[in-house]
Amino acid sequence: MILMKDITRDGNPVLRQVAKDLTFPLDSEYQKLATDMMAYLVNSQDPEIAKKHQLRAGVGLAAPQVGQSVSMASLLVPDDQGNIIFKETFVNPVVTSESVRLTCLSEGEGCLSVDKVIDGYVPRPYKTTIQYHQVDGTEKTIRLKGYPAIVASHEIDHLNGHLFYDRINAADPFKLAEDTVVIS
Ligand SMILES: [Zn+2]
Repeated sequence: MILMKDITRDGNPVLRQVAKDLTFPLDSEYQKLATDMMAYLVNSQDPEIAKKHQLRAGVGLAAPQVGQSVSMASLLVPDDQGNIIFKETFVNPVVTSESVRLTCLSEGEGCLSVDKVIDGYVPRPYKTTIQYHQVDGTEKTIRLKGYPAIVASHEIDHLNGHLFYDRINAADPFKLAEDTVVIS
């Protein structure tokens, strides 16, 4: 199972590389990686298991965060009641369109690969359309809005070598465009 010791941290060059696309059928190695990444997220959101294995809670995990520079990321997004509203593993995801309108989390963002707290709003598209493959090769197109769109954007950023704080306005970290949807 993936543990915190397996998570690559900011400063590791793999987090700044553009991850390579995978080919289908996926090698068993990558099928296992997808299973392991999703298992991390499930376990990390279970208070007992997370405590036992000292897992930091996560809603998304990208392959470069476990040292693999391949285009794969798992998402397990709960609502504020803890009900899962989006669960998927993206392989070779591409953002095909996104809204001009932005959204951000009122508390900023965190990342399993970034140990320190970095304050500031992280503006991202409020709506996004993503084309990707599932682990079995099925092609999908989905439209996401709000919180799941934020998580998807955060994970796809990882596949392009970006970290969340790259999107924070360095001169004014809490400045937002006027119609930004702030999610609390
Ligand atoms: Zn992250």
